Order: sequence, then C-alpha cells, then structure tokens
Amino acid sequence: MPDPTFATDPRQAQIARELHAGVRDLPLLCPHGHVDPGLLADDRPFPDPARLLIVPDHYVTRMLLSQGIPPSRLGVPRRDGGEVETDGRTIWRLLADNWHLFRGTPSRLWLEQTFRTVFGVETRLGPATADDVYDAIAARLAEPGFRPRALFEKFGIEVLATTESPTDDLAQHAKLAADGWGGRVISTFRPDNVVDMEREGWAEEIAKLGEISHEDTGVYSGYLSALRRRREAFIKAGATSSDHGHPTATTALIDEKTAADLYDRGLRGTATAADAETFRGHMLLEFARMSIDDGLVMQLHPGAVRDHNRALYAAHGRDVGGDIPQATDYVHALRPLLDAYGMEPHLRVVLYTLDEHAFSRELAPLAGGYPALFLGAPWWFLDTPDAMRRFREAVTDAAGFYNTAGFVDDTRAFCSIPVRHDVARRSDAAFLASLVAQDRLPLDEAAETMADLAYHLPKKIFKLDGTRT
Ligand SMILES: [Zn+2]
Repeated sequence: MPDPTFATDPRQAQIARELHAGVRDLPLLCPHGHVDPGLLADDRPFPDPARLLIVPDHYVTRMLLSQGIPPSRLGVPRRDGGEVETDGRTIWRLLADNWHLFRGTPSRLWLEQTFRTVFGVETRLGPATADDVYDAIAARLAEPGFRPRALFEKFGIEVLATTESPTDDLAQHAKLAADGWGGRVISTFRPDNVVDMEREGWAEEIAKLGEISHEDTGVYSGYLSALRRRREAFIKAGATSSDHGHPTATTALIDEKTAADLYDRGLRGTATAADAETFRGHMLLEFARMSIDDGLVMQLHPGAVRDHNRALYAAHGRDVGGDIPQATDYVHALRPLLDAYGMEPHLRVVLYTLDEHAFSRELAPLAGGYPALFLGAPWWFLDTPDAMRRFREAVTDAAGFYNTAGFVDDTRAFCSIPVRHDVARRSDAAFLASLVAQDRLPLDEAAETMADLAYHLPKKIFKLDGTRT
C-alpha cells in the first residue's frame, strides 16, 4: 500500500492524486500537539524503535491491552515505579507477534507509512521480520540526520505548537529561543489543571499558579490576574492559542460574586460536582473575554470521559489510552458563550469533538451560523481516513470548507507528524475529487481549496501569520 488515495473509483483516484500532488510539498503547520519541547531543546538522539514508536503511542498500547497484553509488558511506566519491560527488542517482538490486530486500523497505516517514508524501511512487519525492521530503524536512529532538529527540518515543519499548563515555567521554550536554532516551536496555554477543581491536586496547582505569577491566588481576583499574567508569558513564548479540555461543552454566565464564592468553596474543599461544572463553564466565558483582549485563539474540546478504565489509571495514570468518548451537547451548552461573544469579530473559537454524530446535527450548523466559531479537525478516534471522509460529508453542506480550521495532528509522537498530515491531505483530496468527478466543482477551484485546507486556512485561523487580534 505505497500511496493510498482513499478512493475506489479510478477517475476519482486520478483526480485525488493530482490534487494531492499540488499540496504534497507545502510546509506543515502544527498548531495543536503534545510533543515534548525538551525533545527539540535538547536534540538528543531518539531511544530505540520501541521506545520511540510503541511505548508512548496509546493507540497502539490500548489495542494490545484490549487483547489482554498488559501495558507493563509494553514498557508503559507504572505510577508506583513498579517493574515494566525495558528491553526495546522484546517490546517490538511483542508488537510484531500481534501485528494482525491492527489490520484495517489507522495505527497500522501510520506505522507502516512512518517506517517507509521516515526510515526508508519497506519490509512488511510480522513475527518473522520483527528483528529486521527493528534493526533497520535502530540503525537509522543512530545517524545524525535522525536527531529531532534534523527531522523537524526534513519534515518541512513551519511551526510546531506544544502544550503547557500555566504553572509550567516554559524553560524549554526559553532554551530553544536562546540558542538560535531557528525552528519555530511555540507553546499553547492549557489551563485545565487550574480550572477544574475536581482534579486531584487542584488546590496545590492554584498555589503553584500564585508562585509563578507572583499573584495572590488565595482570592478569586488574584486568580484571574495570575491567569492574565501567565497568558502574557505564553504569548511571549510564541503562543497563539489556548486549549480547553472540559468534560462537557457547558458555558455559564454568572456574576463576579457567585464566581468568587465558587472559587472559595473549591479552595476550602467544599465545592460540589455541580459547583465545579458551573465554575468550568464560567471560566470559558472568562477566557473568551481574555481572548478578545489578548488575541489568543480558543480551542475547546469537550466530550472525553477521562480515565474510564479505572484499573489502567490506577496502574499507569493519565493519557495512556483509558479515555472514552461520550455523547456531547453543544447547541445548548455553548449558548451562554455565543449569546455573549458569538458575533464578536475579535474572538475565534475552534471546536473539536469526539462525538462524530454532533458534526452534522450541531457543530456544522453552529460553525456555519456564528462568525466566532470554526470547526476543528476530526481527531482522537476520528483522525482516520474514513472518519475524515465522514467529517467532510457531514459538515460541508452547512459549514462549507472555510468554517473549518484545517488539520491538527494532536500527537505526542514526533515521527508520526508528516504521515498524519499526509493522510489528512490525501483524505481531503479524495473528498474534493469526488466533487470534481461529479461535476460539482471545477478542478482549479478544488486545487485552490486543497491548498487552503492544507496550509492557508490553519495559518490564518490559528494566527500563525503574525496577526495578533
Ligand atoms: Zn490535544
């Protein structure tokens, strides 16, 4: 499967190939992702193939877990520091022995394309070829051209956004800026750990926020000042957007006094679940106000039930594949925010979902109805060729192409970045090709749309072009 077009009709496949060829070499914009900035700041060689491609990839480890292979056998660290497999080759062989589990999945597509296009390895993975593939990738990783910064340049990344909490001192970004390398790595302001009072350790995070901002976060007004100060620091570190991962899309309009009371109850440990939800919803309005002032684009992604798999969380902690999507209401939940700021020309909100049924029923009509709203890329469970096609089919009627914000790779796996962008570009090419093949869109307009989706739209919507407000 060297160059999938994601089209079955030969004429459509031919047009898709042509459209894709027109954008294949455009630079990559990565306005939302979770690569560790220390990777590029330190520029050390990557570890072995398993620790690079398997251990941190929860799409891979969760599939193996679903078939009874515990994450500790795959090298995923335990919270209690207990023993896990450390031999890269052993982990790799375990994946290869179970490679059939990934037939038809995007994980297989991403990994195979990464082997081929990043490492030049054409051998098909399987139990018999595990060592050959491992050795070929390991040999590459030892070469200077495969260090993080060299790959950043080879991948054609124009800008890479990482994600940090307001309590992060942004030291890695400062280090990157100071050493004059030149690659554009920016931060993203992700305040969930200081907004969600239901999180373990919230009060400690609030104390840390006070320290780092030199504000008194023991009171609500000091908390707001602290957040504003940290946003300024993030903007200095290149940030153009904030990112808000809430359980629901609830937004709430409450007065200052009520908000301050909720905050106090949170700090005293007497807040109820309903208080916490109202406070999160209120803070989204507060952040919208801050965005109108300082220009950060707001990204909102509700709908994940975090750590659904309690046993997995107990053993390995967060972000290891235990989150599950839930049905999410946007129409009613976003109303307070949209009533207040939906028509505001200086506000930009990019909405994501894990609930694809919301695309045609709620999200596309909303994005097609409010100037402040844009639809984020299908991601997390939906960043696959089939789900990306369904996304375009679901949203184009009501939102067109220009209320969508372009692709985000949302990845921790640095080496998968070019492959993920390429899959998205091919999927969009296939969709546009279907319109051309049906004589619904001339080829030249499809080609222009293709370039906008791949490059120009995300650059504008995420303000990567230097626009501040
Ligand atoms: Zn993300």
